[in-house]
Amino acid sequence: MQYYTCMVCGRKFYEGQGIILTISDKKLYFHSKGCAYKFLRVVIENSNTDCISDSLEITIKNFREKLESKSKASEKKI
Ligand SMILES: [Zn+2]
Repeated sequence: MQYYTCMVCGRKFYEGQGIILTISDKKLYFHSKGCAYKFLRVVIENSNTDCISDSLEITIKNFREKLESKSKASEKKI
């Protein structure tokens, strides 16, 4: 069975256990959500804010819409 090494803490994990992300042709390996969060937070902090402000805006909008449709769906049930 193939295993991967967490890029943050160095722990080993097997396929299907951790989190594997592909961002701009780079594979990122994390054994847990906590390690993925730690890594991505640093990526964001080190990013040029001009570069990410658009995708940040879109992501905020996407989640907001999801929340709104969710609350609408629960309203219908009542
Ligand atoms: Zn880890």
